[in-house]
Amino acid sequence: MKKAEIKIFFERLLKEFPNPKCELEFINPYTLMVSIILSAQATDKGVNKATAALYKQVQTPEQMLALGEDGLREYVKSLNYYNNKTRSIIRMTEVLLKDYKGQFPKDLEELQKLPGVGRKTANVFLNVAYGYPLIAVDTHVFRLANRLKIAPGQTPLEVEEKLKKVVPEEFKPIAQHLLVLFGRYICKATHPKCNVCPVRDLCPYSEKIL
Ligand code: SF4
Repeated sequence: MKKAEIKIFFERLLKEFPNPKCELEFINPYTLMVSIILSAQATDKGVNKATAALYKQVQTPEQMLALGEDGLREYVKSLNYYNNKTRSIIRMTEVLLKDYKGQFPKDLEELQKLPGVGRKTANVFLNVAYGYPLIAVDTHVFRLANRLKIAPGQTPLEVEEKLKKVVPEEFKPIAQHLLVLFGRYICKATHPKCNVCPVRDLCPYSEKIL
């Protein structure tokens, strides 16, 4: 897609999703990080269902350690890989308190030093918590970047680097949410809804599937 088309693409997406935001529910940066870790290979809806009860009791790192690994597991056992996620969250919380006085570093590389926090998680966190103009490449973003030839790449990192260059500055803080919402509800992995797609005229993929 050409630069001018990419701008039109995001303008149309914003019209379609006028209030783009992360669909995970959270109370503060700490609970946001917990929800993001829980959301791997799980739906936001499923995570929100599990955390609704959890966050009534736990909102801080200290409260999480008081709850403990067994206690946390009970709240999240409906989610995929809940054992690993529980372990990661407790370990991340221990390091956060010990090395960072309970405050998340506002730096992409530094954040990734926390157990269980990879590049995608760190990007989502900094974008949602503090509005940093970062784009996390999840399964939706990776698929759309390649399918629509916005930022084709073999790896998430390659796509992320290309997106940094081609997404117009004004859309960077919300590009992540727009792409995820578009991928989740319209340009799905299988059976994309081309008949109601607002960017069909810009899409190099629709021709192939019609
Ligand atoms: S036309 Fe279809 S394949 Fe292309 S962006 Fe729209 S939904 Fe996706």
